[in-house]
Amino acid sequence: MARDPFVVHVARLRRAPGTSAHEVRRGPVALAGPLDERGIDPGRSVVPLGAEAECDVTLRAFEGGIAAVGTVRAPWVGICRRCAVGVSGELRIAVHERFGDAPIAEDELYPITDDTIDLGPLVRDAIVLDLPMAPLCREDCRGLCPQCGTDRNEARCDCVAPPDPRWANLDVLR
Ligand SMILES: [Zn+2]
Ligand SMILES: [Zn+2]
Repeated sequence: MARDPFVVHVARLRRAPGTSAHEVRRGPVALAGPLDERGIDPGRSVVPLGAEAECDVTLRAFEGGIAAVGTVRAPWVGICRRCAVGVSGELRIAVHERFGDAPIAEDELYPITDDTIDLGPLVRDAIVLDLPMAPLCREDCRGLCPQCGTDRNEARCDCVAPPDPRWANLDVLR
């Protein structure tokens, strides 16, 4: 089995609380669901298939655990919520988490197992929370015409907005 790039041995660190080590780890994050022909998940933003995330952290040993402080970076792709073109960007997420011997549910610690920590779940959790839910291709994207589908960033159409029902009676009087 290939070595997991996010697994870090911390036995030496743990023997000396107060010491720290800098780790930069890069690896793929399996987060993408079913993708369309552009490699985009039309329902949500994702880290592109095969792309790598980077975890740049300082690990500091304390009594009973390891603190990880640093930055997670990953590219993302999605679609504009108004006009549906592909959009992309890079996440830069500040992380400050702890690893310890206690189960994660009790103390919000990530586990230390056999003197190793796995930065993978930390990286994935940070990315999932930070992926843009409804990105825009640009702040002033004009979107698609609801009637003919023309991309209003690129062309005009002659569609007339449907009459406002509040004025219907006035039209009859005229
Ligand atoms: Zn757009
Ligand atoms: Zn139109």
